[in-house]
Amino acid sequence: MIVSCVGIGVGAESRIAIGEAYLLCHGPVCITPEWVAEQEIEQEVSRFEQAVGQAAEQLHSVRGQIPRDAPSDIVEFIDTHLLMLEDKAISGGVINLIRSTRASAEWALQQHRDALVQVFEQMQDAYLRTRRDDLDHVVDRILKVLLAQQDEPASGLEGQIVLAEDLSPADVILLRNQHIAGFVTDYGGPMSHTAILARSLGLPAVVGARGATDCLRQGELLILDTDNGVVLANCDRATVDRYEDRREFQHERTVLLRRRSTEPALTADGRRIELLANIELAGDVQAAVDNGADGIGLYRTEFLYMNRQDVPDEEEHYQAYRQVIDGMHGKPVTIRTLDLGADKQAFDGHLRESSGNPALGLRAIRLCLKEPALFRPQIRAILRVSAFGDVRIMLPMLTNLWEVEQAKQIIQRCMRELQLEGIAFDRDIQIGGMIEVPAAALAARAFAEALDFLSIGTNDLIQYTLAIDRIDDEVNYLYDPFHPAVLQLIKNVIDASNSAATPLSMCGEMAGDARFVPLLLGMGLHSLSMQPAALLDVKQQLLQHELSTLQLKAADFLQHMYSEDPLTLLGRWQDS
Ligand code: PEP
Ligand code: MG
Repeated sequence: MIVSCVGIGVGAESRIAIGEAYLLCHGPVCITPEWVAEQEIEQEVSRFEQAVGQAAEQLHSVRGQIPRDAPSDIVEFIDTHLLMLEDKAISGGVINLIRSTRASAEWALQQHRDALVQVFEQMQDAYLRTRRDDLDHVVDRILKVLLAQQDEPASGLEGQIVLAEDLSPADVILLRNQHIAGFVTDYGGPMSHTAILARSLGLPAVVGARGATDCLRQGELLILDTDNGVVLANCDRATVDRYEDRREFQHERTVLLRRRSTEPALTADGRRIELLANIELAGDVQAAVDNGADGIGLYRTEFLYMNRQDVPDEEEHYQAYRQVIDGMHGKPVTIRTLDLGADKQAFDGHLRESSGNPALGLRAIRLCLKEPALFRPQIRAILRVSAFGDVRIMLPMLTNLWEVEQAKQIIQRCMRELQLEGIAFDRDIQIGGMIEVPAAALAARAFAEALDFLSIGTNDLIQYTLAIDRIDDEVNYLYDPFHPAVLQLIKNVIDASNSAATPLSMCGEMAGDARFVPLLLGMGLHSLSMQPAALLDVKQQLLQHELSTLQLKAADFLQHMYSEDPLTLLGRWQDS
């Protein structure tokens, strides 16, 4: 009997891994309350400080092992942890606890961590909430030094599939250097740094496979199928052979596709589809270019605000954007204005009170309009770089038309200032908006008329339509892009954009997911923006479909989706 564990698949080019299980005990460290005597307090403080120093040394050593050709964000992940280690908000709090309560270093660290976690859990922004993982990884590293536990993974793991309760980005780098075939974790989500890293390193992984370390055994042969987010064990020979063939096929396909990365993206009947890349950091541009992106469809600028004690000034925005624009050599670059939430000050350690329902709170455009001092330097920088390439401004989380008007007024004021200062910019810069709130999707026609372009953000659109927190493990199972209500809203936005002749793209995860692309094309989307690693696959997929046929099939799908199970309908579609 095959044993299977289900989690969330993380795969880019390599989507299948086959190897023996290696159980790594990398779970959270369990600490019991302990106190020290009055006269031992300062000794305990210096024991803690030494542990922090040693943890930093370990991380510097990991940093030195990162291959030169590795994506730039890998170094940044390690630097994030180093910054957290140096952050007085962490060590200062622990030292205070040791001094004021006589707690042991371990117990003080554990208590301080719990207090910080509560703050992280209030956060609205999905990315920032994943910072909680970083906090855990940093605290675990210090704890392991304090407890004198071995932290580095064992050696000789080549070709094995590592099973762990959780892994930090640093662990992933060390494991990759040992040429593991892939990994599985009990905890974690697709937006965690560990998952992002695995994706950019091309390491197949299944994260959040609850119970995997309990039900899978050391040394047994595992198959990791990241397309379906499953880990298979106890497979018969025929199953293993089938997966080996699939793995070989995928590898050959990637090699072939790379050679064709500069060819235009066309459907079988010759219709040109625009394939754009989503990026988070200026350094991601190279991946977009290597995978043949027609431009940047979503530049998530809020990453500029992370891991620092201050906010980026206009010049810093400008330099980052210039790097992206220069790297794209004239291709369009859509810069999304910052999408931080009520937790916007998380980056400088001064957290403001978060509302009880942060996902519905002061985030993205709402925050920018409320705090123009935060918004204006970014707008001025975007306008300044618009003199050097095809730059577009995209406003996130629009709900009301007046938000567009107010944002435009701020943009115009910035334009007037630049003009007075004699600084060049594109007067006709396109201003677009993200449709990611159901209200905006329903009122899409008005937004299409008020803006130069629209982009559907399905990650949030699904979250808000289906009333599920997109990063809550407990309700992940309800996250359903095929829900008729979601598809209906998408269709509404497509129709509204068409009637207003406003260009439309989609930049949520759905746009780069092979399961949805044919349907989206058939529904009328001709521009898709996705993580760079998905571009080649989607481009290849287009060649297998005639747009005219997809349109007929999509119409049939939409007509029957309320009465039949969408997955069954899709199966029938693929068979026909
Ligand atoms: C989305 O919501 O689909 C989107 C692309 O934005 P983000 O994932 O950054 O919220
Ligand atoms: Mg969004």
